Amino acid sequence: MSQAQYKRVMLKLSGEMLGGERGFGIEGDALQFVAREIADIQKLGVEVAIVIGGGNIWRGSRASGWDMDRANADYMGMLATVINSLALQGILETKYNVYSRVMTAIHMQELAEPYIRRKAIKHLAKGRVVIFAGGTGNPYFTTDTAASLRAREVSAEVILKATKVDGIYDRDPHKFPNAVKFDELTYFDVISKKLNVMDATAITMCMEAGIPIRVFKLGEAGCVLRAITGEVGGTLVR
Ligand code: UDP
Repeated sequence: MSQAQYKRVMLKLSGEMLGGERGFGIEGDALQFVAREIADIQKLGVEVAIVIGGGNIWRGSRASGWDMDRANADYMGMLATVINSLALQGILETKYNVYSRVMTAIHMQELAEPYIRRKAIKHLAKGRVVIFAGGTGNPYFTTDTAASLRAREVSAEVILKATKVDGIYDRDPHKFPNAVKFDELTYFDVISKKLNVMDATAITMCMEAGIPIRVFKLGEAGCVLRAITGEVGGTLVR
């Protein structure tokens, strides 16, 4: 088996990944699939940090349709990420024997540790999977930005951004069959071409820290492992 290229990685999953075909709520098989992928790389000795979104439950952008204040709706979204994080932790530990910690940006000590950077680094160094929940703890941000921020804070070497397609295309490949995939891009390309991969705040954070982003498809078994051994193409932003 090829060797992992990285010692410490940040895996960014969107909430939809837990929702299976429907992309809504939490679906058992989808949750198990994601957990198994994580267990596989953790057993290789890779230190795994995770940020998981909440879009399978709630997104702050729904606020306008509900006549709701955006900040309020964003806090709901942040809580949705906590539900997903606890679901992932539960299955990682019970089914796959992988020790993990959920650390929240919004304090809720009864169910998870508050985020403390030095503690997070310690957990990672001890081989525990650390799941950062609650986004950045601030409204008007995304979990992509939370992933970039935490990756930088804990010195992750790469962000592995799992998506439904196998990389970044010039247009939506679901709508345009002749869309062209990029193998490699600069951070600036992503921003200037307005490529829909991560929001500009998240990209800028990675650019400043020089953290590469590998965008790959969460599809077949072993895809996360292949993303860290470099066997899966996807698109590399650096
Ligand atoms: N959110 C927020 N601040 C953050 C991160 C997330 O307010 O730092 C809210 C925002 O409403 C967002 C929701 O949480 O829509 C869920 O996160 P996201 O949309 O990034 O999830 P994903 O699309 O990755 O599932």
